[in-house]
Amino acid sequence: MEIRCYTLPPIGTNSYLLIPPESEGAILVDAPLNSFATVEKVLVQTGRKLSALLLTHGHWDHTLDGWRFNQAGIPVYAHRGDDLLLSQPEAMSAFSIPGLKMQPVHVDHWVKGDDRIAIAGMDWEVRAVPGHSPGSVLFWCEQAQLAFVGDALFAGSVGRTDLPGGDFAELETSIRTQIYTLPPATRVFPGHGPETSVGTEMQSNPYVHA
Ligand SMILES: [Zn+2]
Repeated sequence: MEIRCYTLPPIGTNSYLLIPPESEGAILVDAPLNSFATVEKVLVQTGRKLSALLLTHGHWDHTLDGWRFNQAGIPVYAHRGDDLLLSQPEAMSAFSIPGLKMQPVHVDHWVKGDDRIAIAGMDWEVRAVPGHSPGSVLFWCEQAQLAFVGDALFAGSVGRTDLPGGDFAELETSIRTQIYTLPPATRVFPGHGPETSVGTEMQSNPYVHA
């Protein structure tokens, strides 16, 4: 399994391109600014077709290029809890960067906690991890021992909870019940910053103890 991480503007948001070995497809997790052009080049080089765009949540820095994937006919997956952020992104303009053009993102597949979805030959479990935003989810592939957690959990930190719809107690519960219950060896890929693992955060995360 090849995982390419692109850290993109304007605030250093991670976008992950997964290239599974036994498939002609590929999966993208989150769509920051410039992700479409970045990924398009790689897909041409590798001869892959994008099977899905998985959105961990609806914040603008993770979804700015979402409309481009809509235009290209790529199925988009997200949780309905962030419906408003996705359909009316300008609602969050007070929390973004002035002058940034935000376009609505159409969601083809609404996911919820405990959903199991098969994409590009990989089986995924969706877990709801509200707290940073109401519709935050993580995508876990047990077989590959990978979890894409968006802004719920970072290496040595957690997502901010001061934005509309944020709630620290809820985030803490999400991390304890939905992330710290994954196998400790699970590789954790956050929306910002470096990769970590479930076990590492359980032992040393200063914000949410196991
Ligand atoms: Zn966020």
